[in-house]
Amino acid sequence: MKDVNNTRNARETFEYARKLGMKSRPGEVYCLNGDLGVGKTVFAQGFADGVGVTDTVNSPTFTIVQVYDDGRIPLYHFDVYRIGDPEEMYEIGYDEYVSGDGVCLIEWADIIKDILPPAYISVLIEKDDPNDPDHRKISVESIGDSE
Ligand code: ADP
Ligand code: MG
Repeated sequence: MKDVNNTRNARETFEYARKLGMKSRPGEVYCLNGDLGVGKTVFAQGFADGVGVTDTVNSPTFTIVQVYDDGRIPLYHFDVYRIGDPEEMYEIGYDEYVSGDGVCLIEWADIIKDILPPAYISVLIEKDDPNDPDHRKISVESIGDSE
């Protein structure tokens, strides 16, 4: 599966992610990549809303992972920007999260690409219109899966 979506503002990115969050299932791992300030956290906020999370979602920069338990299924929101060594992920319980009963969403997932599960959903957010600073291209693709 590959889906490319263009958004013109943060609200549209939120809405697009919200629809994916509504469809998300336990065990899925969403890997978010894209430059600083491109909209990964906006995507995470929309996704969380779709999962049914009502708590405020921000980048869990200092904790690496933030757990949201008040939605339809648990949401494990990672921001691995400050990870020095992928090994640190195991120390915070990464294995339990990816094989757990919730859905994982990992900002800056490329940093830990060596330890991603065999199947995951890649989300790449890019600014690709030099004339419109609010334009984003969002490419969503299932990796390692025949679906
Ligand atoms: P990241 O987590 O990737 O570093 P953030 O989600 O924190 O980025 O910030 C994205 C910023 O870009 C926000 O200030 C948001 O309002 C703005 N923005 C402008 N246009 C868009 C868009 N189309 N999609 C997402 N965010 C956008
Ligand atoms: Mg962020």
